[in-house]
Amino acid sequence: MDQDHADDPLSLPPGGTCPRVLVVEDNAINLELVVALLKQGGCEVLVAETAEAGLRLARADRPDLILMDLQLPVMSGYEAVQRLKADAATASIPVVALTAQAMRGDEARAREAGCVAYLTKPLNTRLFWNVLRRFLPRDGVPSR
Ligand code: MN
Repeated sequence: MDQDHADDPLSLPPGGTCPRVLVVEDNAINLELVVALLKQGGCEVLVAETAEAGLRLARADRPDLILMDLQLPVMSGYEAVQRLKADAATASIPVVALTAQAMRGDEARAREAGCVAYLTKPLNTRLFWNVLRRFLPRDGVPSR
């Protein structure tokens, strides 16, 4: 279980479809890092730099999972998650929170907003893949 999947972090079966992950992140450096990690794991990546753009993409493209920065300008990640969960078109998409400032109560607040998991930046790569393996479809067929 604690095995490292360095070359194939998601252990995707051959011939399956790539999981599609939407990253909503306003920090260019963090965005680049997360996108590179996801591509390395065989994911197809969609990106948005604002919550508003993220909501539009989520509705239009129905990704398998959303990584949501909580600290976003104008509309916060918390509010974006609440909106995703309130919309029947996007309610079933698992949302994983990303945060740079882990403050007391943040994780509870993120879960209350509807996040299935919570990751702090800088990302721990092993933890990152553990979480994604838990919430991404395993066989190319979405679990929802
Ligand atoms: Mn941010």
